[in-house]
Amino acid sequence: SESGSSCYRVVLIGEHGVGKSSLANIFAGVHDSIDSDCELLGEDTYERTLMVDGESATVILLDMWDNKREGEWIREHCMQVGDAYLIVYSITDRASFEKASELRIQLRRARQKEDIPIILVGNKSDLVRCREVSVAEGRACAVVFDCKFIETSAAVQHNVKELFEGIVRQVRLRRDSK
Ligand code: GDP
Ligand code: MG
Repeated sequence: SESGSSCYRVVLIGEHGVGKSSLANIFAGVHDSIDSDCELLGEDTYERTLMVDGESATVILLDMWDNKREGEWIREHCMQVGDAYLIVYSITDRASFEKASELRIQLRRARQKEDIPIILVGNKSDLVRCREVSVAEGRACAVVFDCKFIETSAAVQHNVKELFEGIVRQVRLRRDSK
């Protein structure tokens, strides 16, 4: 493995309202007073060192996809700068699930020859009565995308820790196979 500490830039993308900022806030430890050594690098960039499988990893999380003030270039920027991506949809919003497929295609186009780690994230899993996308559909979509899949709830903090650990593992898998 490489010397020194590993630092990965992880980018949140997905339709407005699916819960990207809520997931980022949990990552930032806003609701976690015990372990809140997160550094705020900008209003939508967070840095935190995680211990995953006994090895530390620094994750820089970018939540600027919906930043309309900065214009469209920010999305092109996002597509270029990530070492890994979290493509988020809401399980209560089929349109956001369809959007996720579009984003996967865009990402593939933007980074053609790279094998970029991606996790497809079905958020809002706590809203069981409003579900529009089944777990099976999410899983099948991830197979087509050739990426990992997880359902999370930012509201009840279910699987959020697992999500960020998971993306670190995905980056490492590729690093270690080189
Ligand atoms: P973003 O536009 O993708 O950044 O989405 P936000 O994080 O701003 O969330 C949009 C809305 O969905 C807010 O009202 C959140 O409180 C709500 N929300 C986000 N995640 C969840 C979740 O897991 N469950 C529920 N019930 N609501 C959520
Ligand atoms: Mg947001």
